Amino acid sequence: MLTLAAKPLGFQVVVVDPVPNSPAAQVGAEQIIADLYDKSALARLAERADVVTVEIEHLDAEALAEIEKLGVAVHPSPATIRIIQDKLWQKHLLHQAHIPVASFVEVNSLQEAKSVLKAFGGKMLLKTRHGAYDGRGNALITKPQQLKRAIERFGGAKLYAEKFVPFEKELSVIIARSTNGKVVVYPVVETTHKDNICVETRVPARIDKSAAKNAQKLAHEVAKYLRGAGVFAIEMFLTKDGQVLVNEIAPRVHNSGHYTIEASHTSQFEQHIRAVSGLALGDPSLAVPAAVMVNILGERDGPTKIEGLDDALALPHVSVHIYGKAPTKKSRKMGHITATGKSVREAARNAKKARRKINI
Ligand code: AMP
Repeated sequence: MLTLAAKPLGFQVVVVDPVPNSPAAQVGAEQIIADLYDKSALARLAERADVVTVEIEHLDAEALAEIEKLGVAVHPSPATIRIIQDKLWQKHLLHQAHIPVASFVEVNSLQEAKSVLKAFGGKMLLKTRHGAYDGRGNALITKPQQLKRAIERFGGAKLYAEKFVPFEKELSVIIARSTNGKVVVYPVVETTHKDNICVETRVPARIDKSAAKNAQKLAHEVAKYLRGAGVFAIEMFLTKDGQVLVNEIAPRVHNSGHYTIEASHTSQFEQHIRAVSGLALGDPSLAVPAAVMVNILGERDGPTKIEGLDDALALPHVSVHIYGKAPTKKSRKMGHITATGKSVREAARNAKKARRKINI
């Protein structure tokens, strides 16, 4: 989707991706087929590029810092990516910046985990510090007996614990900062997760104005602590008493911003390209009253085969994006659907109907 946004602005795109015929290559990017941790591949990329950017934070931040030393712009800053890679450091950064977050603490043993669970009122999330993606690396703990198994499942990974937040809603705010320091903030999105994976987003969020203002203000505040340019997604919890807590920062375009392709004056993908290349930022506001995005998650393991596209597209104001990933895997993000409408309700109805038509 970044490639699709970069091309009309006249950019050439080169990507590093280990899977031949990657989604980006399918839509016109030149591909270096290599692992993201392959230093020589990144060096080859740097030779070709004026600007290097990322769309996943789990990569070699040191190698990116090397590229930066060679005089090639890297956005966002490798130093910021390094902090965000470690969810515990990330929480420390937010806490030190006086951004409200759930109580958290490092956990190094079963014994420690037991006493933390007690201190956190008997309900917490045990999380791996590194490499967690789409909720992998999270375990909800409500009984001390669950701890041993959870720790074993994480196989020696470094861990931390977070007090469970009984949130009313999950929110996300996309912001973009350009190389010249200008910042734009997108409207607040409501996100729904199932098994820790984002399944649906709704915009505008149905929350009161003061909570929405607060969420956007917090996102703006968080951005001050992130170095470099690009799109960032700030994920948050809204509690029953109207408090907004920051959960996580993604230093990249994000699932909660996919709706912007059809619903916003400037999509998050175009905005990111503009931001990292120092072009003027675009208008982040909605161009339609409401939009709902539903992810198309794989339903089985096997070759990718899509059915029901025709029926889904016959619905009003529905767009379907298939990413060209192969094979299909259970819960793998294979694509998404966005429906726009006069209201969130109308858009949700069509997006869900469209999703039911598709088998993947
Ligand atoms: P994460 O990848 O850590 O952001 O977590 C994925 C999902 O797990 C979030 O979107 C929430 O639905 C849930 N989650 C994470 N941390 C907490 C928490 N401290 N309290 C309640 N739910 C949480």
